[in-house]
Amino acid sequence: MESRWLAIVSLLLLINIALPLPSHTATLRTNKTFIHVQKRNPAKSPAKKVITKKVVTKKVATKKVVTKKVVTKRVTTRTVASKKKTSKRLVQKPAKPNIWMTPIKSAPYSAAMRKRIIASFKHGRAGKYSPEDLVRAKTFVHYPLKGGIRKRTGAIRYLVLHSTETERPADARRVVRSWNNIGPRHPGTQFLVDRDGTILLTADPNYATVHVNDRTSQRGVTNDNSIGIELVRSGKQKYTKKQLRSLVALAEYIEDRFNISRVYGHGEIQPSDRKDPVAFNWGQFTKNLAIIQRGQTDAETAYNQTNDPAEG
Ligand SMILES: [Zn+2]
Repeated sequence: MESRWLAIVSLLLLINIALPLPSHTATLRTNKTFIHVQKRNPAKSPAKKVITKKVVTKKVATKKVVTKKVVTKRVTTRTVASKKKTSKRLVQKPAKPNIWMTPIKSAPYSAAMRKRIIASFKHGRAGKYSPEDLVRAKTFVHYPLKGGIRKRTGAIRYLVLHSTETERPADARRVVRSWNNIGPRHPGTQFLVDRDGTILLTADPNYATVHVNDRTSQRGVTNDNSIGIELVRSGKQKYTKKQLRSLVALAEYIEDRFNISRVYGHGEIQPSDRKDPVAFNWGQFTKNLAIIQRGQTDAETAYNQTNDPAEG
């Protein structure tokens, strides 16, 4: 008899454990769907849980899909917008290049500072000074290019020498003015060396100007990876001593300041249509550049030491 009673009691206990109280489950889940299902069908609690889970996942899943759709729609509108812009750009060429003028301060430094910078420049030790410093030391004259300047797409590696080869003798400023008069897109070099040795800086050399033909130039030289120097010359004129002294000091400065790996003549990299710098003595230039680079003497003394065929 006792065993029978025990069996009944244990059975009742088991039933109580198997069917948890509705109030207990309600506190476990706050989901509205769950409570709703529970009220409808309070007898089948284990099944309820499954149903609730399914409903919840379904809801979340649909939500995700909706958001995805919205996102895709937004992306498509953007792509359409950008496509429209590009086609406009292709049709209408920009009236202005990227940069009209590069900002260069020209307020002069004190006499002592100027003297120090000028001496460093002549001895090929001015690499620590910026082109603007050299303008403020009155070593360079800032004579700006207006237009024809753009941001570089590559690092500076080459220096290209040119000669202006104007029809009639002209000074460096006149050459720059003739470029600027062409319009916003025009040729130009960052530096010009005038007949009297004056060095013009037309743009910050960290920006590119158009002095070689990017489509026909060889040996990997482009406007984006090079700096250009124009030597002012016309007809049968010889380069002047002052001009060549300034050039060698300038070339040394640019090499030092901008990590130049090689100096080329325009005709060397664009032989199809260019021969400049015309009648240029490369042997003498290289020799003097080496002298100034070794720090033996300044550019002027270097030129007096070498056999200079240039006019005085
Ligand atoms: Zn050239």
